[in-house]
Amino acid sequence: MMMVDITIIGAGITGSLIAYDLSRFDLKVLVLEKENDVAEGATGANSAMVHSGHDPKPGTLKCRYNLLGNRMYPDLCRQLKVPYVPIGAYVAATSAEEEVKIAELVRQCEERKVPFEVLDGDEARKIEPNLSDNVTKVLSLPTTGIISPYETTIAAMEEAILNGVELKLGYEVKNIRQDDEGFIINGEISTKVLVNCAGAHCDEITSMLRESPYKVETRKGEYFVLDHLDGSYVNHVIYPVPSVKGKGVLAIPTVHGNVMLGPNSDYCEDKEDDATGSGLDLIRREILKTVKNVPFHKLIHTFAGLRPHIDLNDFYIQEDDQIENFIHVAGIESPGLSAAPAIAKDVVENMIMPKFPECRVKDEYIHRNPFIRMDEMSFEEKQELIGKDPTFGKIVCRCEEISEGQIRDVIRRKCGATTIKGVKMRCRPGMGRCQGGFCEPEVVKILAEELGKTASEITLDRNGSKVCVSAAKEDL
Ligand SMILES: Cc1cc2nc3c(=O)[nH]c(=O)nc-3n(C[C@H](O)[C@H](O)[C@H](O)COP(=O)(O)OP(=O)(O)OC[C@H]3O[C@@H](n4cnc5c(N)ncnc54)[C@H](O)[C@@H]3O)c2cc1C
Repeated sequence: MMMVDITIIGAGITGSLIAYDLSRFDLKVLVLEKENDVAEGATGANSAMVHSGHDPKPGTLKCRYNLLGNRMYPDLCRQLKVPYVPIGAYVAATSAEEEVKIAELVRQCEERKVPFEVLDGDEARKIEPNLSDNVTKVLSLPTTGIISPYETTIAAMEEAILNGVELKLGYEVKNIRQDDEGFIINGEISTKVLVNCAGAHCDEITSMLRESPYKVETRKGEYFVLDHLDGSYVNHVIYPVPSVKGKGVLAIPTVHGNVMLGPNSDYCEDKEDDATGSGLDLIRREILKTVKNVPFHKLIHTFAGLRPHIDLNDFYIQEDDQIENFIHVAGIESPGLSAAPAIAKDVVENMIMPKFPECRVKDEYIHRNPFIRMDEMSFEEKQELIGKDPTFGKIVCRCEEISEGQIRDVIRRKCGATTIKGVKMRCRPGMGRCQGGFCEPEVVKILAEELGKTASEITLDRNGSKVCVSAAKEDL
């Protein structure tokens, strides 16, 4: 029987940041994740925005944690050495009715001390020339940020592992029972404290111990991704005015210089169904409400994410009212990414650590090295790197200009990549115009060499189904 102090179920942004915060303490912490990588749930497919906190309903946990999380992100990303861009956002009104909604949002900003400015349509178009001519008023929210959700999650987990946290990937929690010490998971792990960060499956985890006080259903959001453009298409995130259906269809610059268009929000019965389809038509139409001259000819990719929505319409973050030491971090739909650092801090400081009053902060703490970004290096820095290791001089992905050395680095690290998608999320081969058409066989070969596998054993992603045929043939 494996014995630990704390087990976290789920390695999305909430589970990973809780593990990261706990790794400072002298505790045995285990993270269990059913997929073969971290950030494979909602965390891997979303709008990647750190919302300012202008929008959630007053008095909700969503509002409280969003406001706190927004202020924490710049420091968190600096510590983890991952990108954070304080890009700012425009909420664009196109009618008198929507201008009334803007006035309501202004009141909320004032009450919450969220910085803002109101511009008329023409003023805003001077700064954002691709704003639709129909836009009459804009609420500018300068504290809105953008991040890379998966890089942030990977970095948090990498640092947690460097400081003693154990991560088990491909490990699905199937049953839990209580005993005198706490909980027994799958009959083989004994833990004192159990933290449920299982996203869309939180209710199923809870049902293993008691009747769940909430039911999770998923709402799909689909996106288009635009290729890098010569100039910028938009310089801010452009929101429409929010409605009862949510934040609407946005134009969102990414930290790596692409633009995403989306998402829709449709009920999806299958909690794992992240296929794109009918929602994309709606996005094509709706995006034209707030922006013009959309370069649809630059579309290179589509993807979808699933929001874990609970019937209580707010986050459910608390110790269970019937089962001691069982902590729920459930219903973490938007603005869950923005809120995650504040959720993790609260769960660790106020729900977990009081259970270990004798526990102290460790004397030593190891910081991770940042991912190697050759595109951010000077010519001299690149020459020096290639001098030490010539694999950094061999470009594998021509679209994003990623070298073999960078790919090997992200595989060799703690919480390293084991799939083609895992490499893509960490250092971007396959993210560009050709979508891996040229570089994928080479990535498969490198993965196979590094992991001691054959090319045909290398999988594309968590579904494990699609293997790069041309590289696999070389096994024959
Ligand atoms: C379309 C869309 C757009 C969004 N945009 C934004 C945004 O711009 N800003 C923002 O703040 N928020 C946004 N969100 C919300 C945000 O993405 C989520 O709130 C956040 O990622 C939830 O993180 P999580 O760690 O709680 O859950 P998840 O990321 O879903 O992680 C849960 C993990 O638990 C694992 N798991 C489940 N069951 C088991 C089991 N039995 N055993 C082991 N592991 C298990 C899953 O595999 C998964 O990896 C958006 C969400 C979507 C879908």
